[in-house]
Amino acid sequence: MKIGFIGLGVMGSPMARHLANAGHEIATTLNRSPLPEGIAARVLPAPAEVAEASEIVILMLPDTPDVERVLLGDRGVLAGLRPGSLVIDMSTISPIATRRFADTVGQKGGSYLDAPVSGGQVGAENATLTIMVGGAEADFDRALPLFQIMGKNITLVGATGAGQTCKLANQIIVALTIEAVSEALVFASKAGCDPARVRQALMGGFAASRVLEVHGERMIKRSFAPGFRLKLHQKDLTLALDSAKSLGVALPNTATAQELMSACDREQDHSSLVKALEALASHRLG
Ligand code: NAD
Repeated sequence: MKIGFIGLGVMGSPMARHLANAGHEIATTLNRSPLPEGIAARVLPAPAEVAEASEIVILMLPDTPDVERVLLGDRGVLAGLRPGSLVIDMSTISPIATRRFADTVGQKGGSYLDAPVSGGQVGAENATLTIMVGGAEADFDRALPLFQIMGKNITLVGATGAGQTCKLANQIIVALTIEAVSEALVFASKAGCDPARVRQALMGGFAASRVLEVHGERMIKRSFAPGFRLKLHQKDLTLALDSAKSLGVALPNTATAQELMSACDREQDHSSLVKALEALASHRLG
């Protein structure tokens, strides 16, 4: 299949590599960095040319304005979109903007899926991503063989925007769990317990979680190189809060976690949220 893949960063590079290794023809366009090593892809001057050369165009970009620029901007995907082409946005962006992008692509005779992912860089490299999809069932069926090359747990959640909404729900749970693990470890440590032993004890009980396992260990070992950059997680919480506001839904603890992130180094891993709790307690783990 002829696939356009735009956004060859931490996540997009391994994803595009898997598609190329499975025998698909990849076309791309670059904004700053050179073509990452090990990806067989044709580099074209702009998103419009990528769309002209592709049956399916996949986007894996940082944020909503990036997707807007690549899709609708000057020489964007829309300018070169072939009738019947499918655009799949795998970035994490606003569910509200997503519905607008899908309508615009539909008016040009194309189809659109939102398909954000969870599982991080490791999931992208091992092709074990969780993929949460919004859109029409026929488009999902068409994209499924490609999703199966990049991921494992693949769900059509609902109509356009449902994939992004599901991803934001995921980000709420992860952020609040990181915050809870931070509070618990800082509390136990200031009370005189060894946080490593507390984590070990709790891993066998009802408080066990992937976050306690992975991020708890990072907090104790002060291993804050990303991983998932805190600024990207803060962006996701802001998207969740904007979306919730438009629905009249209160997300009080999401708002607190989002605020605490403002007191942290935005380029570090999101487990470094513990530093904000440490500052409030005037106490450092280990
Ligand atoms: P990244 O910053 O590493 O990659 C984004 C890439 O897009 C960069 O290579 C950048 O050069 C490229 N790009 C931006 N504008 C472009 C343009 N106009 N034309 C061509 N290329 C352009 O980000 P990432 O970590 O790969 O994340 C991508 C998306 O996936 C984000 O929405 C993020 O929230 C989401 N996500 C990330 C992770 C993670 O662990 N990193 C996990 C799940 C979801």
